[in-house]
Amino acid sequence: MEIITRRTPRSKKLVDYEAESVHSKLQFYRYPPTGTLSLQEFEDIALERLKVLKAVETVGLRHIKGSEEYRNEMEKVLRSFPGGVARAVCRAKCDPGDVRKDHISHFILRLAYCRMEELRRWFIAQELDLFRFRFQNENKENVKLFLENNNLNYDLVSASEKEDHRSELVACGIQGHLIEFSDIYKVEFYDVLDLIQRRKVYVSRGFAYVPHIDLVTLVLSEFRSQLSHALTIASRALPNLEEDNRLLPMLASMSKSYLGQDYGKKTSVGQITADMIEMLSRTSFPMCMQELHQNLRQHHHLRHWGRQQYGLFLKGIGLSLEEALKFWRSEFTKMMDGDKFDKQYTYNIRHNYGKEGKRADYTPYSCVKIITTNAPAVGDYHGCPFRHVDVAILRQKLQAKRIPESGVNEIVSLVKGSHYQVACGKYFMLTHNTGHDFSPNHPNEYFDESQKALNGGKDAGASSGGVKLSQPKSSQASQSTPSQKSLSQKNDDQDDLTLDEIDQSMNGIEES
Ligand code: SF4
Repeated sequence: MEIITRRTPRSKKLVDYEAESVHSKLQFYRYPPTGTLSLQEFEDIALERLKVLKAVETVGLRHIKGSEEYRNEMEKVLRSFPGGVARAVCRAKCDPGDVRKDHISHFILRLAYCRMEELRRWFIAQELDLFRFRFQNENKENVKLFLENNNLNYDLVSASEKEDHRSELVACGIQGHLIEFSDIYKVEFYDVLDLIQRRKVYVSRGFAYVPHIDLVTLVLSEFRSQLSHALTIASRALPNLEEDNRLLPMLASMSKSYLGQDYGKKTSVGQITADMIEMLSRTSFPMCMQELHQNLRQHHHLRHWGRQQYGLFLKGIGLSLEEALKFWRSEFTKMMDGDKFDKQYTYNIRHNYGKEGKRADYTPYSCVKIITTNAPAVGDYHGCPFRHVDVAILRQKLQAKRIPESGVNEIVSLVKGSHYQVACGKYFMLTHNTGHDFSPNHPNEYFDESQKALNGGKDAGASSGGVKLSQPKSSQASQSTPSQKSLSQKNDDQDDLTLDEIDQSMNGIEES
């Protein structure tokens, strides 16, 4: 793959895929790929790597990284992927074609994930985990070759120096009788802060003594810094791609991409009616949509991005345009007259259903999109509570939902580790009383899984994601609170957009 612009210098170094497939497949991806690639292949192999990285993330959240269970699970999961990217990662020997896919897909995702700090962080974390797995599976010979090829010449501690520090090295976990046979490297302490934090290395006069078994930490630290630098450079180079109107939209949608069902392609419109929403919000909506629903009920109004996030979600679960108009009208007209609602809000709702503006049929937002774009400001209720709500407030909200204290602590610790979707999955498990391991990629996927759980695990094939809608026998939906002008209402109105602004705001939102 080569993207040629006026300012992009050609790489002089070519990657020899033949040699890489025979020798170590480990690489720091220092040399960009060259050659030509069809747009279809460009997209296919990038999505293939994205699926692999997503699987790597999931395994990493379930097992202690580097542990035997973690490695076994990684092996199992990666072997289950049919494509060349995963083959290049987990097979001792593979085709040059697989190594090529691994190499090119890494560079495409660099372009897709370099735009924002949060995306960069996610990409680096998953690539590091993938690298660690490969490094730990390589034989000594290939590791040695890799270190030589990358000029990673770490100083080996001499036998006499080992003897001088024997007691300290033993205290740091190296077995006494193995000290003379072990390779121990002496490196600047700031290269292994991770090991120092875990008190796993002996540090003396600014140098850390790293046993061979922890060599991977050193190499990972180098990979992290090279990849982080490369992403910064890539983000600066992105504007050069603006001349190519095919690649940028594709890259932007890749970074927002969620891998799963397309909830824009509805087969069940009309299954949900406006008066079912209150009950469903309690039983089957993810927390992001519960927040929007509760605030809509309380204030009888939502600002533009809240209406978008919630409105498209409701469309995704099967609410028809007529029912959507009825639903929004019934709330908003508690605070305003019907004329004002018709003038200011119906256009936006019809727009979401492809009846106004450029008449595109818009898809509901995925978790990645909600988490990474358009952070809510004061007075907004959209976004993901696991990402955008202060941890102390989130804790209170979870307690108010009667989540047991141990569950609250677990969710909060996942949130603190930036594992928002896994935290949401934990919330699902606790509220549905299921041991089913699940972390949503999409709020509509959450809804479908919830309905499946309430149907006793049956996929009845009829609703938004193919499940039969499950409702309590008697609706306990609370009646709407009496009309009561909220203080925020006046300010909220100021946020409402003109028709032109609505059209503009929809640019860049995925169409089904
Ligand atoms: S993880 Fe996804 S489904 Fe769950 S609350 Fe956040 S945005 Fe909603």
